[in-house]
Amino acid sequence: MINLFDKIADSIYFLVSRSMDSNITFIKSGDHHILIDTGTGMNYAALDKYLQNIGSSHSSITDIVLTHSHIDHIGGVIPIVESWSPKIHLHKAEAEPINNGNMSQTLADTFGADLPPLTIEGILEEGTILDFGDIKMKVYHTPGHSLGSICLMILDTGILITGDTLFPGGSFGRTDFPGGNERSLVNSLKRISEMTFEVGLPGHMNSMKFNAKKSANASYQMAKQILLH
Ligand SMILES: [Zn+2]
Ligand SMILES: [Zn+2]
Repeated sequence: MINLFDKIADSIYFLVSRSMDSNITFIKSGDHHILIDTGTGMNYAALDKYLQNIGSSHSSITDIVLTHSHIDHIGGVIPIVESWSPKIHLHKAEAEPINNGNMSQTLADTFGADLPPLTIEGILEEGTILDFGDIKMKVYHTPGHSLGSICLMILDTGILITGDTLFPGGSFGRTDFPGGNERSLVNSLKRISEMTFEVGLPGHMNSMKFNAKKSANASYQMAKQILLH
C-alpha cells in the first residue's frame, strides 16, 4: 500500500512508499509532468489515482527520470510505456546496457519480476541540466549503490533528490548488489555533504525536510566508519 503525495513545494510532490516500491516524486512544470522513480509497478492503479488527485495521471506523464535502474525504481515504467511514450532519462552507465538489451543490473530476475526490453532516450551524465521550463534539475553522478546512481538538484529550490545513495537518520544505500562499491558510496556521500541544500528526498524512508545537509553529513560519517575500516 502506498500513501498520498505530500506537497513539498510549489508543483513538487513526494510519495513515501510503505511497500517494496521506491518513493516517487512528481513535478509539474508547464506542459511537463515529470515522475522521478516509479516504484515496482505493482501499485500501478493506486499510483494513477494518486496522480489524478494532484491534477495528473499516468497518461499525462511526459518525462520519467530514474535515480538508478533497480527494479523497485524502474518497474513502474513498464505499465506506463505499454500505453504511452514518455521520455525516460537514466545515467549512461545504466542506460547503455539496457539499450543493448541487458537488463541484469535491474535485479528483475533476482526479485522474480518480468521486465521487457526498454529504450532509454535521455542519457544522463555528471552535470547534465534537465530543462523542464520553470523547473530545472542538475544531475550529480553519485555511484556506490549502483554504477549509474544519480542525485538530482532541483535548481533554486534547495531540494535534492538523493535516490538510494543518501537516506535519513545517518543511513545510506547498500553496496552489495552488482555494480555497488563501498569506497564510491563513501565518496558520493562526502560530495553530497558538501552541497548546499535544505530538503532531501530519498529513494526510501521519509523525506529530510529540514537541514538535510546535516543528515547527509551524519550518513557520510557513518558510512566512512562502517564501510572503510
Ligand atoms: Zn531502491
Ligand atoms: Zn537501488
